[in-house]
Amino acid sequence: MPEGHTIHRLAADHFERFGGRAVRAASPQGKFADGAALVDGQVLEAAEAHGKHLFLGFAATGWVHIHLGLFGKLGFGTTPAPPPTDTVRLRLLNERHYADLRGPTACALVTDADKQAIHDRLGPDPLRADDDGERAWRRISRSRTSVAALLMDQKIIAGVGNVYRAEVLFRHGIDPYRLGRDLTRSEWDAIWSDLVVLMREGVRNNRIDTVRPEHEPEAMGRPPRVDDHGGEVYVYRRAAQPCHLCGTDVRTAELAARNLFWCPGCQTR
Ligand SMILES: [Zn+2]
Repeated sequence: MPEGHTIHRLAADHFERFGGRAVRAASPQGKFADGAALVDGQVLEAAEAHGKHLFLGFAATGWVHIHLGLFGKLGFGTTPAPPPTDTVRLRLLNERHYADLRGPTACALVTDADKQAIHDRLGPDPLRADDDGERAWRRISRSRTSVAALLMDQKIIAGVGNVYRAEVLFRHGIDPYRLGRDLTRSEWDAIWSDLVVLMREGVRNNRIDTVRPEHEPEAMGRPPRVDDHGGEVYVYRRAAQPCHLCGTDVRTAELAARNLFWCPGCQTR
């Protein structure tokens, strides 16, 4: 499942390619044919993300709300666009660019009020300029749930996925099984501001890097990580490999339906 930085990046990519101009829209697969017909010929006036939700704003028709879910994909290309395959739920097209959406969990036209209801269900997003960690803290500080599970709960904090959760807890030395209510205010503030920095960098680089400069491969004289996922990380998908800092084997366990990774040597707080 893509994490929030990917969705914010997709919002920016849409606006860069299609913003301020009329787009052609079609649903070759047919499932969004009515919506695409309404959007066709309209001007894309806004593109924004909240957590893992993407919103494309067409003033005359409302918003196209997209959630990629586990299997959804959005791909961009330049014209001439190839004939779309019948798996494309939504194709947007102008003179220079096209975007193909396949396999999303959600792709629907929504009103301003529907969109607001989605925002209201979601927690603050470290990548939204007007959000802060306050609302999340109110829930976390009262919770008997582990901080690792809370970080994955989109109602509490939106956009954090499996990689950022594992890495931010490592960076702050926090035991993932610690209960929300046992976290201190200063620990939470440090986690929130670190997520803001890490996730902004994720949007910029289009990948997740969480390793501090002094722990990068060159600085430590170690080989770089080889993984489809890309960037340098401390614990994510490094189960049974030695921790870069203390040498303890990184551990894994299932938590909140996803694999959690942590270093029992470093994460003792
Ligand atoms: Zn360690």
